[in-house]
Amino acid sequence: GGGGGFGGGGDFGDVFGDVFGDIFGGGRRGGQRQAARGSDLRYNLELSLEEAVRGLTKELRIPTLAACDVCDGSGAKKGSSPTTCGTCHGQGQVQMRQGFFAVQQACPTCHGRGKIIKDPCNKCHGEGRVEKSKTLSVKIPAGVDTGDRIRLSGEGEAGEFGAPPGDLYVQVSVREHAIFQRDGNNLYCEVPISFSKAALGGEIEVPTLDGKVNLKIPTETQTGRMFRMRGKGVKSVRSHAVGDLLCKVVMETPVNLNERQKELLRE
Ligand SMILES: [Zn+2]
Ligand SMILES: [Zn+2]
Repeated sequence: GGGGGFGGGGDFGDVFGDVFGDIFGGGRRGGQRQAARGSDLRYNLELSLEEAVRGLTKELRIPTLAACDVCDGSGAKKGSSPTTCGTCHGQGQVQMRQGFFAVQQACPTCHGRGKIIKDPCNKCHGEGRVEKSKTLSVKIPAGVDTGDRIRLSGEGEAGEFGAPPGDLYVQVSVREHAIFQRDGNNLYCEVPISFSKAALGGEIEVPTLDGKVNLKIPTETQTGRMFRMRGKGVKSVRSHAVGDLLCKVVMETPVNLNERQKELLRE
């Protein structure tokens, strides 16, 4: 006997785990064991900043397990059907006594499935599922960002023997952009300005995700100054909020000056 009066094998924690599992756990209540729901799948989707900001419909090719089309997921050869396991009477579990406790274990005859397939399907060899890739058309909403997740209910792996499928999670990551950096709904960029524009003021062209716009620069603008262009950022995927575009102007050091320009600078 094992430790402390509980007898039998198995440590304390395991025994309690099983007992409470039986009381509170779902799935095993009320007669037959339910076949396992399919696994959830995760698909890593890389988007450009433009795609993430505007949203798009993407065709995703997903390798997964699908219900076998020959046996309709039952695992049994056409014309036959799985029979209820005689050892566990379809429960998938058998009771063993361990000291004071009755402990559930997976049925050794049917390996916990509750059913016996005497005549397995040729295509899936009794598994009820086959490897298959499917193409899904997924709508990516405008404004998604790295870390966002889109759940496609029921698009995961097929369940065991006709049980419900899992879900598919599309995990978004956004590639770095050559010009813009994103922080939440705001975009940042750096724009070069000439020495004379910085000194005298005027209009400069600034890139946005929808093309170039003009930005007025006051006289004596210092390098590194940040200009905020309201509403030129990203429209939030969760609210109606729209972010701003923050432009940092960076002065270009003049090169290849002619004598006249040098003269002017000295003055
Ligand atoms: Zn099959
Ligand atoms: Zn069984």
